Amino acid sequence: MTVKVYYAEKLFDPRWIEKRKRILHRDNNQCAICRKAEGKLHVHHKQYHVIKRLQKHVDPWDYNDSLLTTLCESCHNRGHYRYAIPVKYI
Ligand SMILES: [Zn+2]
Ligand SMILES: [Zn+2]
Repeated sequence: MTVKVYYAEKLFDPRWIEKRKRILHRDNNQCAICRKAEGKLHVHHKQYHVIKRLQKHVDPWDYNDSLLTTLCESCHNRGHYRYAIPVKYI
């Protein structure tokens, strides 16, 4: 799947940097699973959305805040290893 590459390319976009900052702040700069507050924190998408009509992924910053969550690096990696992210066609 190309989802990973696609997101990696966009993560330096200022719109994502802003969104990410907001989510980290909302989550008190803590991992939502283990509550770790130090180290590198990631903002994780609980779903990926694809716009059916355009066959295009929604940009990472265009998700509702409720679909984003703060995770530490190890919880994030473990989560991606165990579960596939549900893709929703909208
Ligand atoms: Zn964690
Ligand atoms: Zn993730």
